[in-house]
Amino acid sequence: MSDVFSYEVFAARILFGPGRLAEAGQELARLCCGRALILTTASQKPAGEHLRDALGPLAVGLFAGAVMHTPVEVTQAALGVVASTRADCVIAYGGGSTIGLGKAIALRTKLPQIVVPTTYAGSEVTPILGETQAGLKIMKRDPQILPETVIYDPELTVRLPVAVSMASGLNAMAHALEGLYAQDRNPVSTLQALAGVEALHGALPAILANPANRAARSAALYGAWLCGTVLGTVGMSLHHKLCHTLGGSFGLQHAETHAVILPQALAYNEDGARAALAPLAKLFGPRLGAGLFDFTAHLGVPLSLRALGLAESDLDRATRIATQNPYWNPVPVEVASVRRLLQAAWLGRRPD
Ligand code: NAD
Repeated sequence: MSDVFSYEVFAARILFGPGRLAEAGQELARLCCGRALILTTASQKPAGEHLRDALGPLAVGLFAGAVMHTPVEVTQAALGVVASTRADCVIAYGGGSTIGLGKAIALRTKLPQIVVPTTYAGSEVTPILGETQAGLKIMKRDPQILPETVIYDPELTVRLPVAVSMASGLNAMAHALEGLYAQDRNPVSTLQALAGVEALHGALPAILANPANRAARSAALYGAWLCGTVLGTVGMSLHHKLCHTLGGSFGLQHAETHAVILPQALAYNEDGARAALAPLAKLFGPRLGAGLFDFTAHLGVPLSLRALGLAESDLDRATRIATQNPYWNPVPVEVASVRRLLQAAWLGRRPD
């Protein structure tokens, strides 16, 4: 433990447990809201309609156009619906894409947000928004972005496809792993990171074996909460910079990109952050990058950027963007080394 640290809490009200979505109406009353606009992706529209029907007159509309990486054009379209429905709050019901849209609306309108996360992305507990405009993902941090209330209902994750569940769980783990060596980490963020990784390390293989395993679904969502909290509290490093670059500028799938980059980025950093990462040896063995690679391979997620559709000819441009304004990293961010990292990730090579 470091004996010099700063600790700041970004507090959202958390409701956790099976069936708790039924309390959404009470939460609206708590926030003094009575005209909720529900947000979903296109594929989760039926779930949004179900919630709208359950809320009755408390819901004034449904915008089912959320997409990945929060493009500003989609936010503009949703703001039109906010205005035409005279909504006094948003309920983001879905994964990180839907949550990002709710945050983008809240940032511009100051409307309160209730979030019902249905993946493990962890965005619901962060004051961070990554918006895409003109092919670049711009990260914003503002207290207004942090949702007021989060309803974690593991029942809503039981039908999350296994492939999405695995990649999304690794996305959550990535927040905690980078949080362990963050410059501004504190003893509480470290406890949360270790507990979050441990919960997901146990839950993901159990979900893979039986996607309807309620206890494992609950543990995974609990882990996602902890890992997301770490993301919202401390700074991220090379791994997140690479994923923001590959998602924002090359359109790669968010969670799958995290899954591919994670073993490579952790291998890059593990010698420079040996003490901070040491507690993970009991989960992943003595070489963290290699151990993570084996874990992700076991979960059946894609292992290479090539499999995600990135062209090899894009690696130079990705290296350039990722190294231009690098996030702080425990190991120096050098162009040649990052290029080698991306080559290994493109091929899906197991780190040594
Ligand atoms: P997503 O929200 O796009 O969801 C993936 C797909 O799964 C979507 O088609 C969605 O409709 C579907 N889905 C979600 N939950 C489901 C369920 N329970 N059952 C069936 N289908 C379901 O993907 P994601 O990985 O959760 O989020 C990615 C986005 O989140 C990116 O834009 C990323 O930048 C953002 N993000 C932001 C933060 C932050 O703190 N700002 C953190 C993590 C991720």
